Amino acid sequence: MEERNKDEVMEQDAPVETVDTEEYEKVCFVCRRPESKAGEMICLPNQICICHHCMQKAFDTMESSELSYKDLMNIANAMGIPEEPDQRDGREEKKDSDKGKTKPKMTNISMINLSDLFNMIPQKQRIRKKKPQEQQERKIPDRRNLPAPHKIKASLDEFVIGQEHAKKVISVAVYNHYKRISSDIADDVEIEKSNMLMIGPTGSGKTYLVKTLARLLDVPLAIADATSLTEAGYIGDDIESVVSRLLAAADNDVERAEQGIIFIDEVDKIAKKRNANQRDVSGESVQQGMLKLLEGSEIEVPVGATSKNAMVPMETVNTKNILFICGGAFPGLEEIIRERLNKQASIGFCSDLKDKYDDDPDILTKVTVEDIRKFGMIPEFIGRLPVIFSLGGLTKEMLVQILKEPRNAIIKQYKKLLAMDEVQLEFDDDALNAIAERALEKKTGARALRAIIEEIMLDIMYEIPKDDNIGSVRITRGYIENTGGPVISLRTAGALP
Ligand code: ADP
Repeated sequence: MEERNKDEVMEQDAPVETVDTEEYEKVCFVCRRPESKAGEMICLPNQICICHHCMQKAFDTMESSELSYKDLMNIANAMGIPEEPDQRDGREEKKDSDKGKTKPKMTNISMINLSDLFNMIPQKQRIRKKKPQEQQERKIPDRRNLPAPHKIKASLDEFVIGQEHAKKVISVAVYNHYKRISSDIADDVEIEKSNMLMIGPTGSGKTYLVKTLARLLDVPLAIADATSLTEAGYIGDDIESVVSRLLAAADNDVERAEQGIIFIDEVDKIAKKRNANQRDVSGESVQQGMLKLLEGSEIEVPVGATSKNAMVPMETVNTKNILFICGGAFPGLEEIIRERLNKQASIGFCSDLKDKYDDDPDILTKVTVEDIRKFGMIPEFIGRLPVIFSLGGLTKEMLVQILKEPRNAIIKQYKKLLAMDEVQLEFDDDALNAIAERALEKKTGARALRAIIEEIMLDIMYEIPKDDNIGSVRITRGYIENTGGPVISLRTAGALP
């Protein structure tokens, strides 16, 4: 008993984070609707707000209260308030003596501690207040401030190696997208949305490209995995949860979220299942469900959670100006394209060699809507992704470049780490080639590079700080291939600190 009291006191003394009432909307504690929907709130101590509707309902219930003690306890339990042992014991004792009486004394209500209630409100479920009209207009990206496609591409070049075509297409599409948002739709010509479908093998930089782009444009980005999505009502995330994630990335600011980017990865995993005689809840149904998001519609999304339930506040987000980028490796798509091309090549006057496309490394660039449909995507879904482009697999030369050239290249990161210990780190060109060769064998694109580097650098990062005399380390091919060691040179006497 003593223990519990001590805990209670500590909880009450704990600093309570104050809600910034200027920036965030008040949310009704009972029905979870924000002030903009439920109307003015009645504020209770400890920053608990209740809308007029719920407050009235509470009074009505109290007045006509036929609530039994059990009902009250159920409500308290649902709210996560523990039953106090002394009360429980008291009830047990009373049970016999008070037989027949159903109406409890209202004193039971005193166990609700309002500061407990406040602690139960998840802070991530706060909704930012809408800005006044004049400020909203200023927020829409201005066409004149928007970097031109060649500038967007130049910025991407600093981070992403190769993939020239993809960078060009994405720069133009993004430029047009934000131009479309900022154009006033006064005339008859309405520019259509340029959602994208990106096809490329794993580790070729699809996610990296989108992440870099969102950072450069300073727009919120949500990355969702299509494999976790299922039709509403089935186990898995609802399709609309991707918009909830974007809202969270925009710090629950609806206007900012409405101009963000949603990247849906692994979209090939929601292809129609072949020969399925059951309901395809994680394939075709997800594609169907995604149609209205891609097209642009007003949807109700839970704030600070991925599924709708009674305790989560809801917000309406319009997806009209959200840019959707879908990505996937589409394994087996090459085969479909090759089959089509070979068939075309062997028919008619311009018939060609039958196996002309068998070893074409750029076969993915020849993809058509028909091929993707054959893969299992429904026509309505593909129709809403008008910009389709592919990324090539990474070659050995590109992997070497990825190691050393991007602004935050992994080798630059290690050099910086060792420079803090005043040790110079060098990689032989041949050593970089050896790392790239090992990465190619793993067939996971540039993802393999990090794992390999981490592995080879472990010993160096462990041993070097032991000896203050070491001035530089040179990594050789022999060290990568486990046939030799790194070349270590000592500091010259003058260079010692
Ligand atoms: P995926 O195509 O499977 O989405 P990612 O974009 O996640 O692959 O790539 C994994 C990592 O590999 C990235 O974090 C990035 O560091 C690196 N990477 C991949 N492709 C490139 C590239 N073209 N240029 C620079 N880094 C790349």
